[in-house]
Amino acid sequence: MPSAPRFDLVLRSTTVLVDGRFRPADVGVSGGRIAAISESPLEGVDVVTLADDEVLIPGLVDSHVHVNEPGRTEWEGFASATRAAAAGGVTTIIDMPLNSIPATVTVEALATKRASAAPQAIVDVGFWGGAVPQNLGTLRGLHDAGVFGFKAFLAPSGVDEFEHLDAAQLERALEEIAEFGGLLIVHAEDPAVLDAHANSGGVGYGRFVDSRPDEAETTAIDRVIAGVRRTGARAHILHLSSALALPALRAARAEGLPITVETCPHYLAFAAEQIPDAATQFKCCPPIRSDANRDALWQALLDGDINIVVTDHSPSTAALKFAHGGDFGLAWGGIAGLQVGLAAVWTEAQARGIPLERVLGWMSTGPADLVGLPGKGRIAVGAAADLVAFAPNEAFTVHAEALQHRNAVSAYDGASLHGVVRRTWLAGNPVSTAPDAAPGGRLIEAGR
Ligand SMILES: [Zn+2]
Repeated sequence: MPSAPRFDLVLRSTTVLVDGRFRPADVGVSGGRIAAISESPLEGVDVVTLADDEVLIPGLVDSHVHVNEPGRTEWEGFASATRAAAAGGVTTIIDMPLNSIPATVTVEALATKRASAAPQAIVDVGFWGGAVPQNLGTLRGLHDAGVFGFKAFLAPSGVDEFEHLDAAQLERALEEIAEFGGLLIVHAEDPAVLDAHANSGGVGYGRFVDSRPDEAETTAIDRVIAGVRRTGARAHILHLSSALALPALRAARAEGLPITVETCPHYLAFAAEQIPDAATQFKCCPPIRSDANRDALWQALLDGDINIVVTDHSPSTAALKFAHGGDFGLAWGGIAGLQVGLAAVWTEAQARGIPLERVLGWMSTGPADLVGLPGKGRIAVGAAADLVAFAPNEAFTVHAEALQHRNAVSAYDGASLHGVVRRTWLAGNPVSTAPDAAPGGRLIEAGR
């Protein structure tokens, strides 16, 4: 009788997420991939039995991370960002084309970013390209070089080197991207609506929300939908905040248009009513809206009208985040959530009676599928052995200075959350977040 195969690693748990359901299993790993999922014991060189309070889940795929290196490495960087990712159960990040310098808008800039990431990453890293007025007509080159798609802003981005597209330029970008079957990912706020509501800022959060009303999102999203209808390009709406945009998106998809939507942990965890004056750690664009709006976003997730939840991790230095004494008009906008995104969403989901399986569909499998990585974000034979031992019921308090993020600024500081990432494996190897650990992350390319 032939002897049973011996795997490099066997992970054993009574609670393994397979095909969207938790069940007991042994997961056998060979050559960095999941080679077997078995109800009976498997033999491994290493056998790790998870604790009774741990579940085995696929590593998260966070398709919305601003690493900012090179150029603004004091805001974040590949070493700190990927350590934060691993500590938060995220085994793949896709880096946004801004706010690094250079922005990822040319093949040369992509090479620069890869060279910066390669020696530092402890989780897998891929890259979005940017679509800006200056590089329209040349997007194919970046696509062929392996970016996962193209980010565009419809309103000013906040940094001078990454300009937004006007209506005609959006149309050109969609036409161009449709030609090679790419994906446009859009920061959808309308600049005319923002201009019409501009106010003098100040420390009151309500005034900030008034300056970026729902209408800015709905108008911009309507424009994207119309462009998709005309060009046939695939588009994805980034960081949806306003639930008022959901009917138009639902109708667009009912029509068969290839358009997807994400929201972010901070829109699901926080509500405008709770945000104190001058608390600019909560500033992001589009803004966190009302408690009722938050309920509607959760319902849209449950209904399948929002596809995924990713962090939009967008840190800066404390000096910029708290500039001008907490004036929401002047502070840098962006929330750092990479390390705490899973716990934040899970804590809120649990309070709403939503099971962990659903959360992982939105944060692991969903983003993997969206960016075209079917071998990630799931525990399945043949998939990457990117795995996390997660203790869903362990409570902890977030301390911003204890996070792996480079800057100790967090909207989650002081929050009591549930769900602790105990261990993370990348391609079957345990990931260490120690400063001297060898960087085992790989650079990944779309379609490969
Ligand atoms: Zn972003």
